[in-house]
Amino acid sequence: MGDGAVSELSRIALQRADLFRQQCFINGKWTGDPTHAVHNPATRGLIGHIPNLGRTEAEAAVAAAEAALPKWRAEPAAARAKILRRWNELMLKHQQDLARLMTAEQGKPLAEAMGEIAYAGSFLEWFGEEAKRVYGDTIPAPSSDRRIMVLKQPVGVVGAITPWNFPTAMITRKVGPGIAAGCTVVLKPSELTPYSALALAVLAEEAGLPPGVLNIVTGDAEPIGRVLTEDPRISKFTFTGSTPVGKKLAAQCAGTVKRVSLELGGNAPFLVFDDADIEAAVAGAIISKFRNTGQTCVCANRIYVQDGVYDQFARLLAEKAAALVAGDGLAGVTQQGPLINERALQKVEAHVADALGHGAKLLTGGARHANAGTFYQPTVLRDVAADALLTREETFGPVAGLVRFKTEEDALRLANNSRAGLAAYAFTRDLARSWRVSEGLEYGMVGMNTGLISTEVSPFGGVKESGIGREGSKYGLDEFLNIKAVFVQL
Ligand code: NAP
Repeated sequence: MGDGAVSELSRIALQRADLFRQQCFINGKWTGDPTHAVHNPATRGLIGHIPNLGRTEAEAAVAAAEAALPKWRAEPAAARAKILRRWNELMLKHQQDLARLMTAEQGKPLAEAMGEIAYAGSFLEWFGEEAKRVYGDTIPAPSSDRRIMVLKQPVGVVGAITPWNFPTAMITRKVGPGIAAGCTVVLKPSELTPYSALALAVLAEEAGLPPGVLNIVTGDAEPIGRVLTEDPRISKFTFTGSTPVGKKLAAQCAGTVKRVSLELGGNAPFLVFDDADIEAAVAGAIISKFRNTGQTCVCANRIYVQDGVYDQFARLLAEKAAALVAGDGLAGVTQQGPLINERALQKVEAHVADALGHGAKLLTGGARHANAGTFYQPTVLRDVAADALLTREETFGPVAGLVRFKTEEDALRLANNSRAGLAAYAFTRDLARSWRVSEGLEYGMVGMNTGLISTEVSPFGGVKESGIGREGSKYGLDEFLNIKAVFVQL
């Protein structure tokens, strides 16, 4: 480790230094040589290293998960719930440390990182409780000398791959229900944000999670991904990330017919009708568009505004966006962090250039920040062409592009004109319209008069090419349970 690593680490200033781990967690042991560098996107400074593991270690992790499975699934749900609850309590106890670690490796403002830790922990408690209520069924049989019962049983060993944009919550939203249901897990977090994942393992162990129930492998995504999708010992594969990678991994799962859950990319439409509360719509757009610097899968990506309020909405949104404070989340209070890397920055630049090239007008932003990190100014563009890159692809950055529409019919047609189907938003004070629009949007989630739709109690997931399955809520547990029918001949 060079001087850079020392200074980044000292800036994180952990109360509990042992939460920072540079090794993987397999079968309850810390293992692997830290060789792969991890940087802070806000400063480009070196935080530390992680092991660059591959097929062999991933297979060892699967073996550990397989060995741990019989005992873990035989535990009463209440015993599993107790560990999950304790794990959540430990996360909250060390919320500040976990958040600072996250801000350092991911770049999001500290307040958002604090919020993510609480949100992430909520899945552990929620699913621990839900698992106590995994009821089966009895089914009236077609003849009087037979009985039919339905049992719900854990699927088995789970392979999980998670992204960098919510380094902790995307893990607990899978691992929470998996472990609560009685499954064991092998997880590969993003190489860009491994320390949040590894810190979680420290606290899981402290909460009493037995060795092998949760295994974390960092390293080369392709060979590790091959094991998690192709190894017959794994019964279920769950992925959160981009649509192209999700499609490839789902195809890899076909050979062993695994259960598959996919939480993939979005391209959320955000509709503002003439009858909306404009202040509320602007506040909703700010939270939905600029949270996590526009790097959320449910980000408003295409903002459609009706004729009558278009100018007012554009002006107010630009004013609010221009006031967002960008900077290093460990150095002061910020509302915007950096983009995750140079590639992400280039994508944003390409989307803005394409929109301007097709006649859009810049209201605010539109350039990189003059600082060391991968920052882009919060940007608002008006009069974006309905078929600009900005509306067709997930931008994943702090750029709000406004498109004008005339009728409700137009708005729904524009909104549904996408292969993505994760989240959509609409602002209207007309009750009947709010129902028509909610029902007409071809999306897994609709925020009606709100820009915030994430909570552990509600199902999260998409339709079309945004995914398969749901996370969170009572439905999230089903993804980790098999249904077994038992016939009894009397
Ligand atoms: P990504 O490039 O697809 O990466 C996601 C994960 O897959 C990372 O752990 C990555 O590892 C791994 N990976 C990449 N290529 C792989 C391969 N060939 N085999 C196995 N694993 C592979 O996505 P991202 O850029 O991290 O995340 C952003 C995307 O996630 C966006 O599209 C966003 O909308 C989506 N997302 C969806 C949801 C949802 O709930 N629907 C939530 C959050 C994010 P490395 O990083 O180590 O390379």
